[in-house]
Amino acid sequence: MPRGESLWWPGSRCPGCDAAIAPWDNVPVLAWLWLRGRCRACKTPISVRYPLVEALTALLFGLAVWRFGPGTSAAVAALFAAALVAAAGIDFDHRIIPDSISLGGLGLGLSVVPWVRSGGGVPYGEAWLEAAAGALLGGGLLWGVGFVHARLCALQGRRFAHWPGDGEEFPGPRELDYWYWFPGMGFGDVKLLAMIGTVVGPLGVIQSILAASAFGLLLGLAWYLVRRDAAAPFGFGPALSAGALVALLAPPSLLPLG
Ligand SMILES: [Zn+2]
Repeated sequence: MPRGESLWWPGSRCPGCDAAIAPWDNVPVLAWLWLRGRCRACKTPISVRYPLVEALTALLFGLAVWRFGPGTSAAVAALFAAALVAAAGIDFDHRIIPDSISLGGLGLGLSVVPWVRSGGGVPYGEAWLEAAAGALLGGGLLWGVGFVHARLCALQGRRFAHWPGDGEEFPGPRELDYWYWFPGMGFGDVKLLAMIGTVVGPLGVIQSILAASAFGLLLGLAWYLVRRDAAAPFGFGPALSAGALVALLAPPSLLPLG
């Protein structure tokens, strides 16, 4: 996705030799084992990250069924978990969260979650309002933090490597950048937490932020211990995704979905 390639066509190819990967060599986790971690055609090593991400996704699918029982709620939770795993991995590597995941998930969450919950007896309008409130609170909270931080930095004349840029003026209220371009935090995080809010609701947003803060601290600390570098190259997306997964899948839960 971050390379702008289609998920559907053409099918999976070896990044080393471009050979198409046969369906039986594309079985999650198992294919990596029986290929012994190498492309069948050119023997280029296949990163262990593939089977690890596949195994993690399988584990989350299992947790979704365990948490909600077999049914549409578990299916939505599983889809949401897979989207969060992708968002976390892409943000870690590329420092972006694709709109197709955050905004696509926001649209899907606003339409599918109320429909699933109305099947469980909650009035559709009520369920929709809760999903919308979760999105507004999630997006609004992070946006507020980023906005206030940006204004304080501008007041103090603080500059960052990419904000506002060499020799650039601080953006003013008449410029779009003033409202959505912040140092340290990308607008992708705002959109991701809005998407998360549709599924976990307003209370789940609070739980997600608390858990994400703990994960962010641990991730930053681990990076510092391994690399001795306090300036971690990754964003808040991986911690936010992990926090949302805890809010969604960890019982006991105050969450609406289910
Ligand atoms: Zn190959």
